[in-house]
Amino acid sequence: MLIDELHAALPQIKNIKERWPLAPLCTLHVGGEAEIFVAPDSLGDLRELFYFLSKEKIPTYVLGGGSNVLFHDGLIKGVVISTENLNSIEWRTNITADVDAGFKMPLLMKELREKNLAGMEFMAGIPGTLGGAIMGNAGAGGRGICELLDYVLAVEADGSVKMWNYNEIDHGYRRCSLANDKRVIVSARMTFRIAKHGDKEVLENFLLRRGTQPHGLHNAGCTFKNPEGNSAGKLLDECGCKNLSFGDAVVSDVHANFILNRGNATADDIIKLIEICAKRVYENTGIKLEPEIKIIDPCFHL
Ligand SMILES: Cc1cc2nc3c(=O)[nH]c(=O)nc-3n(C[C@H](O)[C@H](O)[C@H](O)COP(=O)(O)OP(=O)(O)OC[C@H]3O[C@@H](n4cnc5c(N)ncnc54)[C@H](O)[C@@H]3O)c2cc1C
Repeated sequence: MLIDELHAALPQIKNIKERWPLAPLCTLHVGGEAEIFVAPDSLGDLRELFYFLSKEKIPTYVLGGGSNVLFHDGLIKGVVISTENLNSIEWRTNITADVDAGFKMPLLMKELREKNLAGMEFMAGIPGTLGGAIMGNAGAGGRGICELLDYVLAVEADGSVKMWNYNEIDHGYRRCSLANDKRVIVSARMTFRIAKHGDKEVLENFLLRRGTQPHGLHNAGCTFKNPEGNSAGKLLDECGCKNLSFGDAVVSDVHANFILNRGNATADDIIKLIEICAKRVYENTGIKLEPEIKIIDPCFHL
């Protein structure tokens, strides 16, 4: 049994959970159970755990805030590592902070507001943690979180902690060169700036745009990335995808790039709907949409 193997190899790690439900930890509220779920509460534990899992080639998934991920139904074989307990922030100067990967982005926005700092207005309204944001270079309006990084600390597959300086990180639209399932982001040093006149309006404008997105039902933000020079939402809309449904998953009638869980959707419902939408757009336009949501399902291939 994997749990016995883990207890024997890593006796110091507490709170190793078996058959842990993932749906409550993901904003889509779907997905099965992790064979093993661990939320390390120190960097030391994370290093030992990740090194062991890599060495033994045990399937491993990292979970931040669960706002951009879709686990398949049933048993997810292997180990899900949550960063929920790596969640502190330490201010090094009046504008520079060391932020843990599990620190929630809305809380970081709040810290900035309280300290009269700015520079990250484009992240307004984006849920999730810093680690998840860095992995997908989350952002809006052509901006991305990676712009604000001085450096990132990550645990690599050999258990070492590597420092990635800003100039070593290649990033672009929803893309970061650190994204790799053989690495866990631990923290980042970030530098902001003192707020100036007009920053508040910029932030409010980003929040206003959220008004064009659906509210009230579980979702994971945009389903597909925008293809170069085009809008995935517009393509999906033009191909008649709004209101399409499969099981209890439905394409929003407000924004066609959002798939919503009406309450009892399964991961399979959502995956099927993603496939149907992508197929429609491809057949009508020849454009292949690429999912923005990270789909953890060995059977999923678009
Ligand atoms: C209502 C809503 C609106 C949204 N709007 C936007 C938007 O405007 N712009 C945007 O970019 N996104 C948006 N999103 C998507 C999502 O919030 C972001 O992508 C977010 O940054 C994901 O962070 P997370 O912590 O939830 O990551 P998760 O969903 O937990 O994980 C996402 C990926 O990152 C990996 N990961 C997470 N943490 C780590 C870590 N520490 N080390 C290594 N890998 C890690 C996971 O393995 C997974 O592959 C939205 C989502 C919702 C629900």
